[in-house]
Amino acid sequence: MFKLLVFGVIVYAIYVLYSKGKAIKNNINKSNSKNDTESEEMVECSECGTFVTTKEAFIKDGKYYCSKECMLKK
Ligand SMILES: [Zn+2]
Repeated sequence: MFKLLVFGVIVYAIYVLYSKGKAIKNNINKSNSKNDTESEEMVECSECGTFVTTKEAFIKDGKYYCSKECMLKK
């Protein structure tokens, strides 16, 4: 039983390492293919004035919002 547990932990560790490596590879691919200046641009929330990146911002009627809550307030 104990051996099975250890085996499970090892498999889990390999799985975590594998998925992390995959995520890093995806990030590298994204930053290489995308225009960095465009994806990192800061915009101001029309509702509360918080600055967020265009990547994180919510867009409604051509205006930027920091969150769904701000977007739905109006
Ligand atoms: Zn806001």
